[in-house]
Amino acid sequence: MARRLSYLAEKHGLLPDTQFGGRPGRTTEQALLVLSNAIDRAWYTHKVVTLVAFDLKGAFNGVNKVSLDACLRARRIPTTARKWIASFMSDRHASIGFDDFRTETTPLANAGLAQGSPLSPILFAFFNSDLVDQPVNAHGGASAFIDDYFRWRVGHSAEENLTKIQSEDIPRIEAWARRTGSCFAAEKTELIHITRKRREQLQGQVVMNGKTVEPSPTAKLLGVVFDQELRWKEHVQQAIKRAIKVSIALGGLRHLRPEQMRQLYQACVTPVMDYASTVWHDPLRDKTHLRHLNTVQRTTLIRILSAFRTVATTTLEVEAHILPTHLRLRHRAQNTIASLHTLPRDHPIWDTLRRAQKRRNNIGSYARFPLAEALKTMNLERLGEVETIDPRPLPPWRAESFTDIEFGSDRETAREQADMVRSTSAIVVYSDASGREGHLGAAVVALDNNLEVIESQQVQVGPMDRWSVHVAELIGIFYAVSTVFKISHQRPRTEHNGTTTATILCDSKSALQAIENPRNKSGQRIIHAILQAAAEVQAKGIALRLQWIPGHCDDPGNDAADRLAKDAASPGKTHPFRPLLTRKRALIRDKIRAQWEREWKASTNGGHLRKIDSTLPATYTRKLYGNLPRGRAYLLTQLRTGHNWLSTYAKTFGFRDNDQCVCGAQETVTHVLVDCPNLREIRRELRREAGDAFNDVSSLLGGSTEGRRGKPDIVSRARTVKAVLDFAEASQRFKSRAP
Ligand SMILES: [Zn+2]
Repeated sequence: MARRLSYLAEKHGLLPDTQFGGRPGRTTEQALLVLSNAIDRAWYTHKVVTLVAFDLKGAFNGVNKVSLDACLRARRIPTTARKWIASFMSDRHASIGFDDFRTETTPLANAGLAQGSPLSPILFAFFNSDLVDQPVNAHGGASAFIDDYFRWRVGHSAEENLTKIQSEDIPRIEAWARRTGSCFAAEKTELIHITRKRREQLQGQVVMNGKTVEPSPTAKLLGVVFDQELRWKEHVQQAIKRAIKVSIALGGLRHLRPEQMRQLYQACVTPVMDYASTVWHDPLRDKTHLRHLNTVQRTTLIRILSAFRTVATTTLEVEAHILPTHLRLRHRAQNTIASLHTLPRDHPIWDTLRRAQKRRNNIGSYARFPLAEALKTMNLERLGEVETIDPRPLPPWRAESFTDIEFGSDRETAREQADMVRSTSAIVVYSDASGREGHLGAAVVALDNNLEVIESQQVQVGPMDRWSVHVAELIGIFYAVSTVFKISHQRPRTEHNGTTTATILCDSKSALQAIENPRNKSGQRIIHAILQAAAEVQAKGIALRLQWIPGHCDDPGNDAADRLAKDAASPGKTHPFRPLLTRKRALIRDKIRAQWEREWKASTNGGHLRKIDSTLPATYTRKLYGNLPRGRAYLLTQLRTGHNWLSTYAKTFGFRDNDQCVCGAQETVTHVLVDCPNLREIRRELRREAGDAFNDVSSLLGGSTEGRRGKPDIVSRARTVKAVLDFAEASQRFKSRAP
């Protein structure tokens, strides 16, 4: 029912544009960006924004059955569905349980909407649609996320805004509440004047439900603290506080290994910190907030690696392979912006995007618009080319476009099956994709019973940095379906009354999987085009099947398609599809990584680490620390970062007067590992285990001096590092108990 309602609502536009909650393709961040854009536009013309955030008492529980039904009827939801929903909200019983005590089950007079039901958010969106349906323009606007609702006014002064709110908005809201039997909590209502004109801040008041509401310097909207001057100090403080809370909770999980801690940090701590960052973080100018956010990262890094507190953050980041805070935020902003650009042009966020794109070129304004600033870090032209992904759900009752999609078997069975379908199908078409010299191509080949080519087509897909093999395979299948259509047209209908069978053979399992399970994700347009074309073929009375065929198994059709696809892999693009978001994301990630590498190479920190490992930052450091117990990780960071218990380090930091080893030489990591005569005895074991790696301190410590592309041997490296750690422990030069 939730899926059907959602389909109806999106297909026929039954819900207001201002409702961002409980709907596919909509997020809180979008609702806040629409507001930020409105504020920026108002400030641009020296106006004041006054905002009221209302709090609905009870929300889901407070929904009145009769009022909801009236809303649904007004939006012409079918009677059957309305009856079902009325029943969903009737005859509810409840009992309260506490340990082994239980009250008797009693009926609930007005149960409202059940918490946790997938149906409740969408029904609530219908319920308050009259309330939140207000235009967003230069004079004001509104945004809602399920039961969170805020309304803003734009005017020359705080007083002008308050008058409008008091005389127009509050009566309207109170009338709605009376009509639907809802109730607003005046004490939880927030009022704020967003302006940098000091004399307008904290002016006046409004009266609601007989209670006065005074303006405050901050207001929390959908989890983001807006301050009246949009300097975001309070919000960043809140974000850090929350992140530290989670971080401390994770710290309580003892015996976690570095890689597990790293994953938890990235899955639980950074999302809390970065939430809705495009609203409050300016990637080009923000320095102070970044410094504060960085402290959370630094504390966690020291814990993950069990490193000395003197190690620089940049070194820790490279060693743990965790992006520096400013790059992480930039990465997040670019990803968010790329995703927003895939939304259909009638989505309400597009007003904001279009304005931010224009705003991006204006210099000299006194307050910055973070979204426009983040856009400056991106290539607009490329963004405009990205595919559109329609978040609207497909009809829940649609028919299958293919008679059968078969890909679940192993190579042997798949080959037999392919042979079988070939002999039983009237039309057999092969599709394949291939890459060559940085370009991708796809091709389609149709064979007759004598395995002669009767029809073929080649498609130039595009350069590999914009297109992937997966997409090229899908494009191949799309053209294969149209080839089936074409052949069926040319061929006189020999079969009487029976249906013709056509089979498309393809060697990409992932492409077939994507077609079998079409979802609203990257590549949607191509898959929809395939399904659409397939439905048309089926409508002509042709049973269309998709069959997986293992690649490179001397199948004449597959070989021919492969050859033609390779041949088509040349510069140019001969199909109508647009580059995919997934590729765009990979590109964004690569660029951020490259930036990180540049910054690391340019920094003066981590000299010791740089000497033993010249290819950082690289993902293999994750494997290096991966499963080490804390004590061992503590040893490894000492060896790699050069911050350790040896005298050279102690002298540098002023704990000791000399840097000498017990043997009289200078006590460095290299000296201890390779040279110190006092450790000759235990070094034999290390020499045997390490083999060739013993000749090079860098290789001993898991470092790589090879080029970026030369993949180091993970297994032998892990073995060497283990031997080194054993040796370091036995040498007793490094304390192996992490603090
Ligand atoms: Zn020595």
